[in-house]
Amino acid sequence: MSWRRTLTIFFSTSTRPFNSIRRSLAPPFSFSSHFSSATSPFPSGLDPTKTSDKPRVVVLGSGWAGCRLMKGIDTSIYDVVCISPRNHMVFTPLLASTCVGTLEFRSVAEPIARIQPAISHAPGSFFFLAHCRGIDTEKHVVHCETVTDASGSNILEPWPFQVSYDKLVIASGAEASTFGIHGVKEHAIFLREVSHAQEIRRKLLLNLMLSDVPGISEEEKSRLLHCVVVGGGPTGVEFSGELSDFIIRDVHERYSHVKDYINVTLIEANEILSSFDVRLRQYAINQLTKSGVRLVRGVVKAVQPQKLILNDDTEVPYGLLVWSTGVGPSPFISSLQFPKSLGGRIGVDEWLRVPSEQDVFSIGDCSGFLESTGKHVLPALAQVAERQGKYLASLLNQIGKSGGGHANSARDVDLGNPFVYKHLGSMATVGSYKALVDLRQSKEGKGLSLAGFISWFIWRSAYLTRVVSWRNRFYVAINWATTFVFGRDISRI
Ligand SMILES: Cc1cc2nc3c(=O)[nH]c(=O)nc-3n(C[C@H](O)[C@H](O)[C@H](O)COP(=O)(O)OP(=O)(O)OC[C@H]3O[C@@H](n4cnc5c(N)ncnc54)[C@H](O)[C@@H]3O)c2cc1C
Repeated sequence: MSWRRTLTIFFSTSTRPFNSIRRSLAPPFSFSSHFSSATSPFPSGLDPTKTSDKPRVVVLGSGWAGCRLMKGIDTSIYDVVCISPRNHMVFTPLLASTCVGTLEFRSVAEPIARIQPAISHAPGSFFFLAHCRGIDTEKHVVHCETVTDASGSNILEPWPFQVSYDKLVIASGAEASTFGIHGVKEHAIFLREVSHAQEIRRKLLLNLMLSDVPGISEEEKSRLLHCVVVGGGPTGVEFSGELSDFIIRDVHERYSHVKDYINVTLIEANEILSSFDVRLRQYAINQLTKSGVRLVRGVVKAVQPQKLILNDDTEVPYGLLVWSTGVGPSPFISSLQFPKSLGGRIGVDEWLRVPSEQDVFSIGDCSGFLESTGKHVLPALAQVAERQGKYLASLLNQIGKSGGGHANSARDVDLGNPFVYKHLGSMATVGSYKALVDLRQSKEGKGLSLAGFISWFIWRSAYLTRVVSWRNRFYVAINWATTFVFGRDISRI
């Protein structure tokens, strides 16, 4: 679909809510001089900057890549506008811990205004709670639609608006892959956002409580308390480890009537933790098995409301199903008519530019090197996204300092060194105060790899220091200490 077609669909479907919302907001809502007039035939938004204004960097997404970029942007050179459907960054490596109450949800959510304070107070910098729906690279405009809370009594329909950019950074991440398997979207829970972790925790605690109520059959009790995780990558393994810790320590103590019914099954089509050293993989298998996690080699064929079906027609009843089988491009990324890299990500060159377009860059899980660069597509990892964000911030600052900050003015600017990625290694916890640390730079490479309690200590220390703000670092440390002393919080709020 071309951008023109994208825009046609966008306007034809969205004009009514936009007009109604503009009318309803008119009296108390006044646009600053950056915004286009409400009488324009097009949706209101941010007009192009003038040469006397600061150039504007528009960032799509508030994940690892977008937030690291915003943190590094020199706001004396640029105004920053972030457009994202969530107003915080999620510290994903610790997200699995929030599902069972080892950590609280707020400890892993970092408000964007803390990452880039200019967004709260600089006159030309903003955060817009919205999805980007289309990009007009000729006019240097992104077309967006607000995210409104459609539930509750104060119903506000989403409305469109547009934002002109001088530099555009697409950092909208990826989506969980379902491989088109029937029923996954409807019945499984993904583990990518804080809202997913909240859903998992509520469901787990609800199932625990229901299975304790008189009148429930033995069979139903076992189903409700069967937690199935599909996908044996680091996320699936870490979540299974967290669950088994929760069961061993908290369920055995506080739900002792049903402790013998609760089970965890991890289903993986190939090897679990396939990117890790073979010795570490074996360690993880032993450790998970010892903690009571059942490992099943299998391919899921279909998912139904209370059971899933494997390729060999085995039926697996479940009460909680968590799906974690990797990521692929989102419909938004697939709809963009840019050259793509392997895997359908936005294709970028060595400077993370979309080479067919002026002033458009892409970083993080939604982008990959074009085949013409001769480089491999980098893995979908926070450490890649974060380093690309840091690199691009300094590249944009350099472009801005050389006078190339405004739209179409950076053609002759020397870009300096291209982006080079050096893998620092991988880590994963497997529960019971054990973790794996694999410091090899590649699967075939040589390097230190260790497993056990010391690795777990390294894992915790490394992530504690990586947590973005001191506030959240403090929260995480306090949550860990509270869980250690008092156990996990099992109230269903
Ligand atoms: C549970 C879990 C654990 C993980 N653990 C690790 C780990 O230990 N180590 C590691 O290196 N990696 C880990 N990862 C992977 C890592 O989180 C991702 O690689 C990283 O988040 C990618 O960053 P990103 O900025 O590209 O995308 P994301 O962080 O996914 O951010 C994308 C942003 O774009 C926004 N967005 C989406 N669509 C639009 C749109 N149309 N318009 C505007 N904005 C949009 C989203 O709301 C979000 O804010 C983990 C991932 C998960 C889910």
